[in-house]
Amino acid sequence: MNTLTLKLSLAFTLVVLIAIGIMAFLVNRATTSEFGAYLSHQQAMGGMMVPGMGGMMGFIGEAEKGFLDSLNRWLIVSGLVAGGLAFLIGLALARQISSPLRLLAAAARRIATGDMTARVKVRSKDEVGQLSLDFNDMADALSRNQQLRRQMTADIAHELGTPLSVIQGNLEAMLDSVIPLTLEQVASLHDQTLLLSRLTSDLRQLSLAEAGHLKLNRSPTDLTSLVQHAVEAMQPSARTAGLSLTLSLQTGLPRTVADPDRIAQVVHNLLTNAIRYTSEGGRILVSVEMKGRDLLQVSVSDTGSGILPEDLPRIFDRFYRADHSRTKATGGAGLGLAIAREIVNAHGGRIWAESQPARGSTFFFTLPVSSSS
Ligand code: ADP
Repeated sequence: MNTLTLKLSLAFTLVVLIAIGIMAFLVNRATTSEFGAYLSHQQAMGGMMVPGMGGMMGFIGEAEKGFLDSLNRWLIVSGLVAGGLAFLIGLALARQISSPLRLLAAAARRIATGDMTARVKVRSKDEVGQLSLDFNDMADALSRNQQLRRQMTADIAHELGTPLSVIQGNLEAMLDSVIPLTLEQVASLHDQTLLLSRLTSDLRQLSLAEAGHLKLNRSPTDLTSLVQHAVEAMQPSARTAGLSLTLSLQTGLPRTVADPDRIAQVVHNLLTNAIRYTSEGGRILVSVEMKGRDLLQVSVSDTGSGILPEDLPRIFDRFYRADHSRTKATGGAGLGLAIAREIVNAHGGRIWAESQPARGSTFFFTLPVSSSS
């Protein structure tokens, strides 16, 4: 029998025995004194008061003593029967109380051995029911995290594997003289190594940011000129893609305390995406404005492919690509927005997107205004 059930049953029994003991003691005292008083009254009425027996207590003869002894015996017997019954009923109650806990323990053991499907039925609305609900939520979160970790390992292997196999294939072909060892070939292999090193550095940055270890060199920053520079740097790419890239700035904006390199990285990433997902002839509009009294807001709006509502909540997840068939030839590894979110969050801001499929998307992020500006 499990110890909690036993402990609860014994506790029930002990409480009942103590109650019966106190009751027996009081009944015994009351009966003896009431019975004595009654006898004394009877004897006084019959003029049979025995001198020396004292006060109210009448003479207790053999028959009366026998009656009191038999009463005491019955009290003891009924106490024992009630105690035994209390133990049995206590056992049943204790089993009922501890059964959800036993189920919880069994489910926790299954989770510990790797069975993430283990859940418990919530049967009550009391504390144990709440514990079961919390347990199920925890199991859901664990299972989701395990799934994400597996997915991430597979994604990393895939992302690293693709450029590596290109490099390997090309090198082997050169060694076998299948393709000539030209400068162009070496340059293309060099591109693949750049891709690999960018990927590993993105992964490193993301893992640092997720662990809260991203180093930020914060200083009072003029967000307007930072965004202006980022937009100027992207003008050639926008022109090459046949897109118009314009900037709308609110004047006299206060500063923010931020790491300018990291925030430039966020703007650069949003602009790269806007250019990547907007087809020729499209428009990209970048704006910086105040939002309320304490926030600066940057938005990057495009007239591109847009994002489906079911993809929208997930585009900031690592390795998530709305178009799963897309390769690196037409897109990135799906890390850019995940890194951008970590950077913005680390600055105490918020980043989000709104989109209409086939009409375009707008990405927003906010940063708190510097209190000294
Ligand atoms: P990637 O390097 O694949 O672009 P990101 O993390 O930057 O990765 O973006 C994640 C996904 O979000 C992209 O694969 C794309 O599906 C979607 N996305 C991001 N920006 C845009 C945009 N401006 N228009 C349409 N889809 C976008």
